[in-house]
Amino acid sequence: MHFLWLMLPVLMTAWSGEQRPTSLERDPDAGVSEALARTRAERLSNLRYELTFTIPSDKSQPIKSFETITFDLKDASADLVLDFSPDRGGVLRNVASGDQMVTVRQVNGHIIVPREVLRTGFNHLTLAFNAGSAPLNRNDDFLYTIFVPARAHLAFPCFDQPDLKARWTLTLDVPESWETLANGAEQSRETADGRTKTRFVETHPISTYLFAFAAGRFTIEKAERNGRTFRMFHRETDAAKVARNRDAIFDLHAAALSWLEKYTGIPYSFGKFDFLLVPAFQFGGMEHPGAIFYNATGLLLEQTATQDQKLGRASVIAHETAHMWFGDLVTMTWFSGVWMKEVFANYMAAKIVNPSFPEINHDLRFLYAHYPGAYDVDRTAGTNEIRQPLANLDEAGTLYGAIIYQKAPIVMRQLEALVGPDAFQEGLREYLNKYAFANARWQDLIALLDRRTPEDLASWSHVWVEERGRPVVQTELKIADGKIQQLAYTQRDPHGGRGLIWNQRIQVAIGTETRQSDRSRATTTLLPVHLNAAHVEVPAARGLPAQFVLPNGGGIAYGELHLDRASLRWLMTNLPEIDDALARGSAWVTLWDAMLDGEAQPERILALAIRALPLERDELNVQRVLGYATQAYWKFTPPAARQEAAGQLGRVLRDGLQSASSQSLKAAWFAALRDTAQTSDTIEWLVRVWKQQEQIPGLTLSETDYIRLAEELAVRDVPERDTILDQQLERTKNPDRKAQFAFVGPAISADPRVRDAWFRSLSDVANRRHEPWVLEGLRYLHHPLRSAGSQQYIQPSLEMLREIQRTGDIFFPKRWMDATLGGYQSASAAAVVRAFIDRLPPTYPERLRRVILSSADDLLRAPRITRMH
Ligand SMILES: [Zn+2]
Repeated sequence: MHFLWLMLPVLMTAWSGEQRPTSLERDPDAGVSEALARTRAERLSNLRYELTFTIPSDKSQPIKSFETITFDLKDASADLVLDFSPDRGGVLRNVASGDQMVTVRQVNGHIIVPREVLRTGFNHLTLAFNAGSAPLNRNDDFLYTIFVPARAHLAFPCFDQPDLKARWTLTLDVPESWETLANGAEQSRETADGRTKTRFVETHPISTYLFAFAAGRFTIEKAERNGRTFRMFHRETDAAKVARNRDAIFDLHAAALSWLEKYTGIPYSFGKFDFLLVPAFQFGGMEHPGAIFYNATGLLLEQTATQDQKLGRASVIAHETAHMWFGDLVTMTWFSGVWMKEVFANYMAAKIVNPSFPEINHDLRFLYAHYPGAYDVDRTAGTNEIRQPLANLDEAGTLYGAIIYQKAPIVMRQLEALVGPDAFQEGLREYLNKYAFANARWQDLIALLDRRTPEDLASWSHVWVEERGRPVVQTELKIADGKIQQLAYTQRDPHGGRGLIWNQRIQVAIGTETRQSDRSRATTTLLPVHLNAAHVEVPAARGLPAQFVLPNGGGIAYGELHLDRASLRWLMTNLPEIDDALARGSAWVTLWDAMLDGEAQPERILALAIRALPLERDELNVQRVLGYATQAYWKFTPPAARQEAAGQLGRVLRDGLQSASSQSLKAAWFAALRDTAQTSDTIEWLVRVWKQQEQIPGLTLSETDYIRLAEELAVRDVPERDTILDQQLERTKNPDRKAQFAFVGPAISADPRVRDAWFRSLSDVANRRHEPWVLEGLRYLHHPLRSAGSQQYIQPSLEMLREIQRTGDIFFPKRWMDATLGGYQSASAAAVVRAFIDRLPPTYPERLRRVILSSADDLLRAPRITRMH
């Protein structure tokens, strides 16, 4: 039912001269400023939206839409600002208040509703408009919304801020053959004249960024778990692939839900539970209550999936499910608090996933899932604090990144260690109950926890959460006659002048070597150390036998951890002898830092990896070391030295592939071999694999694997490259994968003019809509083997970054820079970036400058450390 449009003139109340309102004092800025959000949160309550979208099958046709907004207003003495900033095709048609048509002003992406038509208490606005398309991801036969962080108002008029939660009623009118999905359960469905109109039940109060819907050609899988029905919407055409994955996906959701209900003591609050698998989805997942959206690739795993990918799938499912409580039920007041929901989701995910993978070393898994990613940003000049100020929601996207997703969970683990797990859980339960269906700030949680511990959480929180960077921790070790005489740690602030001490409880590994017949082994003992001052002595270490000391032996210390000389020397030679898998992993993370700091040579790191790989038995370590070897090879080995390293590396990888005990391990070895192949021997063998003339015993390659292999062969300019690309396109059955492959093709072309045209085409936003496609193309365009010809694209890519941020989704600016710079190591490429940064005007957004600095960090270091001897 639609509002009846009465064509009445707006009734203007007569005002005396003194009282006459001159609308707002000044027009609101573009975006949603914090000041605007605060004023609105003060004035508005009891908010409801009723929305109807009529979606044509042709994605170029406008989406006719109607909306009713009702709310209580505290005072009607000022105009009311709605947000609406649609792209081309979106337009406001008319507005009514009650049954009066209203003349409104549209300014800076807002609709100004004049105070004359508002009243204190209940208000009722009705709007007719064509929806903006940008956040609707319209494809030929499906669309889905992404409104995070504040993109709902690019599609329809609303109060687009997280602390104005509303109840939503949605009606979707779509082509008959389409399925629909929304936050609420389906209430009614009518089909007539080739169209289906579906109405969904009203939701509980949720924020605008969590409102979501999707419509299109989807297949629906249903399953019952613990008395609850789960539905999975997807577009996968490979039935065997769906069949292979579906039960695991439903099981993982059900397990996550019941774990969270138990931990929080609060039942799932949003009624039905559906999820949608989107091909080429921008994120891993998005936590809309009742309608989680996922990247299809992350959930529908190939037969060759690695252990890491299986863990990754369980983690993303647990992460999004945890958001139903942390983020959806209790939401941050403002997006500066976005890290809170992310850290809780990640943190709970780690707790949830562990029981499902009893064979995994979870401390090692935590180390790899968080430390390298956090360090990749936190070691750079572009790093940021966990909690960042945010003046306007149109910059909210720049808050997201490794500091939120990887560092914050490390900090949260430190917090739990400080408070104790029981008090931590109790505090969280109180927090969730107190702020259910409402909003809260970090300080609200710290206050609840502070009451439960003697520690000073406020100053702890200041250093770890409000300040950027990591402590520089130096080990001071004196050994005589194989025994420790003195062990001490100093810490200092890398950014200086702040006088910060990173209070943390760590576990130091003391390693001793023993000889067993012909080979030596190193056993480790963990020693607790409380780093709570600039200089900390470890008296308990005195007299212990030791060959080396590793500050992060327990996998919990956070910082730029410098080893003493003796330990560094020992580890660079003997690391594979350490018997504890976690200590080996921690040593690798520490040595990688040492390489980037110029304390270890890249070719020695690569040589250590080549020696360690055949001996490594832990799958997580194998995967990580393969990753380090690949990075050391492409990013830090000078091109002239690669050919020689390629032979050695290739032999180790071929052996590893052959002797690997599981399909997932084989897949990891194969991926490293494919990505680093440079000898004619290996490349010819890969061509035979692609032609399916050669089988890899114990490893089944999927369509995605063959696509990737074809691309890697093409970038190496094998003689049959054009035939391979043509045939691969023909071979590819799945339409979404086929479209992606066709898009990426020109970026790998042997013809520089074709590559150039591909890059130029990216200046049109329409060609950047499928962000994962763009990133894949960029990675090939800037592949190290193509770097000489492609360096010219660095400068224009840097120049485009502001527009990328304006038009793209939240992770796109950082990924755009990563994909652009990841293939280079030369001094001339570094100079291009350096010159660009140096010439930035003072008005350039600081957050984007930091994005560049952090993406460029490896490149800026490479010329220095590759020359080091
Ligand atoms: Zn999340």
